[in-house]
This record gives sequence, C-alpha cells and structure tokens, in this order.
Amino acid sequence: MAGSEAEWVEGALCPLATPRFIADEMLQGAGQWLRVAGYDTALPANGTRDRHILEKAVNEDRWLVTRDRELARHRLAPQYVILVSGNSLESNLRDLTRLIDLDWFLAPFSRCKRCNSPLGNGNPPDAAAEAPSDASEVSHCPYCNQVYWLGSHVRRMRGQLARFNHWRW
Ligand SMILES: [Zn+2]
Repeated sequence: MAGSEAEWVEGALCPLATPRFIADEMLQGAGQWLRVAGYDTALPANGTRDRHILEKAVNEDRWLVTRDRELARHRLAPQYVILVSGNSLESNLRDLTRLIDLDWFLAPFSRCKRCNSPLGNGNPPDAAAEAPSDASEVSHCPYCNQVYWLGSHVRRMRGQLARFNHWRW
C-alpha cells in the first residue's frame, strides 16, 4: 500500500512539488509576475508555434498557463493545464491564484523577471550597471546582467504580491 502511494507522489509533475510554468503569449504579464514570485516560468517569444509551446511544456515538465481553449485541449497538451478566462492581467492573476491556490510568496525576487534565471547576490562582477552605493539587498542576473535592489519599485511589487495572496482560499 505504501508503495503505491509513494508512486503517486513521486515525479516532477506531482502536485505537491513546486510547479514550473510556461505561459502562452497572451499571458506574458502574468508569467512575469510568476517569475517575480520565484516560479520557474518559460515565456516563449511572440509567434512561437503552438506545437513548440506544447512540446516544451511536456519536455520540461511545465504547467501550461493559457487563455486559449484549443491549446488547452490539444492532444499534445501537458498533463497540467491552467485555463484562465479573463481578458485583463488582474483577472488572469486572480484565476491563477484561485485555480491552484498559488502562493505568491514562494521566493519573491529570487529570479530574473526578464529572463527567468535564478539571481546571484550583489552586483554583477563585470558589468557597467550596478546598484546605487547605498542600496540594500542587491542581486543580479548572471545571464542578462539586470541588477535588482530593494527600492520603492520592489516594495511596491511586494505589496502587489501580498494583494494577490489575499485571493487565496
Ligand atoms: Zn536576466
């Protein structure tokens, strides 16, 4: 008995594991917020063919986030699909939160909003851009060199994450 239960909870697509996402091109804004919250989220470039999006989802064990019913029901769709319905970013985020009880405080500001890479501490070692000298909680993206630090922008975004979490059940 224990064996069969263990089998059910194993595997990268287990609902108990932290999900990874891929958002279609209509949901890039929601996808960027997933990155801000710390979720590994692929955002295919505009014009990427449906087939490639679905293959990437399956190959990389990503949950598909989409507003496109045809894509959601495609025979190549991954096991987990989150179909949101609204036209606004606000309603997309609310759907996402409620459909899977998403925690927006998984690991805020641990991942690059632009390119999805996990952030490193401090300023980038060899880039022109760096944080103001009095900035705190400085981090950088080792891939695209974007620099982040605790400022009013980050504080505002943290407030938004808290607001999204209020939508949870
Ligand atoms: Zn980056």
